[in-house]
Amino acid sequence: MQDIVIVGGGVIGCLSALNLLDAGARVTLIERQQVGREASWAGGGIVSPLYPWRYPPAISVLSDWSQGYYPSLAERLAQFTSIDPEVTACGLLWLDHAEQDEALDWATRQGKPLHRVDAEFIYRQVPVLAEGYRSALWQADLANVRNPRLMAALRARLAQMPACRLLENTADTRLLLDQGQVRGVHCNGQNLSADAVVLAAGAWSGDLLAGLGLALPVQPVKGQMLLYRGEPGWLRSMVLSDGRYAIPRRDGHILLGSTLEHAGFDKSTTEQALESLRASAAQLLPALAQQQPVRQWAGLRPGSPDGVPYIGEVPDYPGLWLNTGHFRNGLVLAPASCRLLADLMLRRPPVVDPTPYQVEGRVQRLAESQ
Ligand SMILES: Cc1cc2nc3c(=O)[nH]c(=O)nc-3n(C[C@H](O)[C@H](O)[C@H](O)COP(=O)(O)OP(=O)(O)OC[C@H]3O[C@@H](n4cnc5c(N)ncnc54)[C@H](O)[C@@H]3O)c2cc1C
Repeated sequence: MQDIVIVGGGVIGCLSALNLLDAGARVTLIERQQVGREASWAGGGIVSPLYPWRYPPAISVLSDWSQGYYPSLAERLAQFTSIDPEVTACGLLWLDHAEQDEALDWATRQGKPLHRVDAEFIYRQVPVLAEGYRSALWQADLANVRNPRLMAALRARLAQMPACRLLENTADTRLLLDQGQVRGVHCNGQNLSADAVVLAAGAWSGDLLAGLGLALPVQPVKGQMLLYRGEPGWLRSMVLSDGRYAIPRRDGHILLGSTLEHAGFDKSTTEQALESLRASAAQLLPALAQQQPVRQWAGLRPGSPDGVPYIGEVPDYPGLWLNTGHFRNGLVLAPASCRLLADLMLRRPPVVDPTPYQVEGRVQRLAESQ
């Protein structure tokens, strides 16, 4: 049985832990705050990339696998923990989108049920939408997951598992090395020895690698969101226009997102984003113009150059593994990414071809990158 330390309690760290525990490993998950309070809490939870046709196959493959897996994951978590992550297949409308032809070609190649629909369909599906949209792309089976609940369910499930140790509010984390071999992690003044360490620290993943003289090109990309209160069923589907989207939750809440900002690790919300997101809300769903949002927040996406995550062992550091850099798609890509990581660590046949995600050649020595 392997002893594994995972650094980072977001969706990637927690689902990596669950996969490894299910396979019989012993896992210590360390989180410097509380599990599931960073990007994995802040995200919208659309179980798809926003414009799936724009991405390389490396993203489509993980996204496809995960989309198929989400309903059973949610069901299993709900059974064990009584917390339902509410995976809801309410469909998504891309309104008056300029890339309709590319999107439809992509959908044909991928076998996706994505169709062009006219105004009559649009307003039948979402009567509360602003006037004037003439056509859209529509995919009926696209879902959203209520990610704060997903994180609560994952935390509760991990806490139930005897082979799992959850350490929250950890401080001063650094890697323990012995002649290049990773032997564990030091945190809170103690050494946690392990056969392998997984870095799943989201936007902060580069910090620990920098200590080894390695430059991981994962940068924080801030996203701000608004939350509105509504009646259940008022908004029946997700809608997207000009990069802004509205997502209905089962209890009637509506999320409106999101901004894309390069502001370092600053997670504060801004008046400018509030105004801009409110304008988008009013443009999409005019009734929201009369309402004050009930909440505004920001999260830091783990931005990688092309959005393709790093999943694999770090060259020259046996025992050190990465699962990070999921950028805008960490919630949708998490199930497949974490299954792949576990397959690789446990030397099982990988669920998808691991080549596009390998770390080799994608992480430089710090001196070289300057
Ligand atoms: C506004 C917004 C909207 C989004 N919408 C979507 C969407 O609709 N669909 C989608 O698929 N994705 C979406 N995303 C992206 C998605 O949320 C992220 O890609 C995903 O949550 C990343 O997960 P993670 O576990 O890598 O990072 P995180 O959730 O950030 O978790 C990393 C964890 O590591 C911890 N940590 C960091 N350093 C240390 C350390 N040294 N020691 C211990 N712990 C440490 C942090 O505290 C944190 O809890 C959105 C993101 C944002 C911000």
